[in-house]
Amino acid sequence: MADQSRAQQILSVTQRVLKSLLGTRRDWVPNGLFVAGRPTVRVPSIGVVIAIGSIMVGWWAFAGATGLDDDSRQTFDARPALFAGSISVMAMMWSHILSTRLRSLEVLFGGLDRMYRWHRWSGALAVASVFLHTQIVDDVKGIPGASRSIAKAAEELAGTAETFLYILVIASVIRWVPYRWWRHTHKLMFPVYVISCAHFYTASKPFGNGDIWGRYYSTAMIVGILAGAHRLIWRDMIKRGRSYRVSSISRGSRYLDIALTPTGTPIRHTSGQFAFLKFADKGLTEPHPFTIASGPSSSDLRFAMRTDGDWTGRLTQQIAIGDTVTVEGGFGRSHPLPRRADHPVLWVAGGVGITPFLSALDELNTQPRTPAPHLFYAVSSIDEAIGLTELDAAHRSGVIELHLHVSQDGSRLTADDITSAFGPRELSGAHVVMCGPSGLLRAMSRAARGCGASTIHIEEFDIRSGIAPDLTREVDDIINEVATQVKERRSRVSSTQ
Ligand SMILES: Cc1cc2nc3c(=O)[nH]c(=O)nc-3n(C[C@H](O)[C@H](O)[C@H](O)COP(=O)(O)OP(=O)(O)OC[C@H]3O[C@@H](n4cnc5c(N)ncnc54)[C@H](O)[C@@H]3O)c2cc1C
Repeated sequence: MADQSRAQQILSVTQRVLKSLLGTRRDWVPNGLFVAGRPTVRVPSIGVVIAIGSIMVGWWAFAGATGLDDDSRQTFDARPALFAGSISVMAMMWSHILSTRLRSLEVLFGGLDRMYRWHRWSGALAVASVFLHTQIVDDVKGIPGASRSIAKAAEELAGTAETFLYILVIASVIRWVPYRWWRHTHKLMFPVYVISCAHFYTASKPFGNGDIWGRYYSTAMIVGILAGAHRLIWRDMIKRGRSYRVSSISRGSRYLDIALTPTGTPIRHTSGQFAFLKFADKGLTEPHPFTIASGPSSSDLRFAMRTDGDWTGRLTQQIAIGDTVTVEGGFGRSHPLPRRADHPVLWVAGGVGITPFLSALDELNTQPRTPAPHLFYAVSSIDEAIGLTELDAAHRSGVIELHLHVSQDGSRLTADDITSAFGPRELSGAHVVMCGPSGLLRAMSRAARGCGASTIHIEEFDIRSGIAPDLTREVDDIINEVATQVKERRSRVSSTQ
């Protein structure tokens, strides 16, 4: 009987674990993918063209490379294998460059959020090419770059690094690992890259390290290593952003609305940009990105945050007026307002996705535009609507056309609300920006396209991306339960002594 109930217990725990790991179907769709209904064709930024060019040019570096098949002892064309290896080293270089958060690179790649996107793609390309390289490489004959023993040692080390690379990439793509842990595991990509460089440098290639191609790759590898060191040492350990103090706090049912006042030189930002915030103590020193909800003209910064996460939940409980905050930014190159003032503008915001538009509102209040931007704002309850007083005032003075939709009051935002506000071609050439939950944006994008919108800018509040459910909360529950049990056991032991 006892055995049966134990088996049932194990079965139910296994079912619960599996359910958490699998999540829902939506958890397995990468954020942002298909949100805009169909992909928006964009001219790739100059940075992407340079990156692709710098990788592809290597095809010519490996002309004439031959290898020796271990089994048949026949020679074969080793160019594809070596080229695949070079792609992985170059893609990892770009991935490290793109993680530096250098402002100057934002111009080349179209903003930090896009840089993170390309950072992920180049990481994926590196993994795919490492896999291809190891599948097709054999004993490659060419000009040895270094002594055989060093080359052999570097090759063996690269084999271990390859395994690490796969594990780290799986941990990145599958969101089971809580962000705060994943962030640290991700830093291990740097030693993996350094080992790959050592292998590339010492391996047999059809050119010497002192030749033109050798110098090309050596320079690229040095740049990649410097970029990685810049990020890990300068950015993460030494560089601090600008110092601010918390000057006002307003708590909503599921959000926190705060203002920060600079204690020295303020950061500079444009509307739609975001910044990383770090609080001095209280276990809140991990940097988190938030869109700046105040306008560029104000030196005070405003942030509105959803507070149902791990860090944000702790923040809302612990934050107090006068707390010191380090702010790094502004980053990103998305613009809620188009350059041309006479373009029609459509904004769609869901919940806390209102922040980029609140920032643009500050700009509009000083320089109103005709036609006034239409803002469709969807919230589940009225007390979740952030900045309602300003939005209302702007609507009444004709600065924006506000369409507030509160699901709990029976006015849920649907595609029909868009199609009935605009005619079939009325949004052609319009500047359309959306920020909020992907389900809502998918429906709204489809409706906007139906009214002629061709380009839809989606603001994503997600840096990590990836698939699978985020298990932060479940992991925290387990940690708390274990901690409580340990505490209880300790107090029992001490009371019996
Ligand atoms: C460009 C950008 C702008 C954003 N603007 C806003 C905003 O204006 N208002 C708002 O409420 N939210 C905003 N976010 C989202 C906000 O950064 C996350 O909700 C917050 O960091 C979650 O932290 P948490 O530990 O409380 O939540 P958790 O529940 O622990 O994490 C939820 C998810 O948030 C992400 N996340 C967690 N920690 C970090 C971190 N240190 N850095 C980056 N991402 C992390 C991960 O994808 C994680 O899966 C923005 C995100 C980005 C990328």
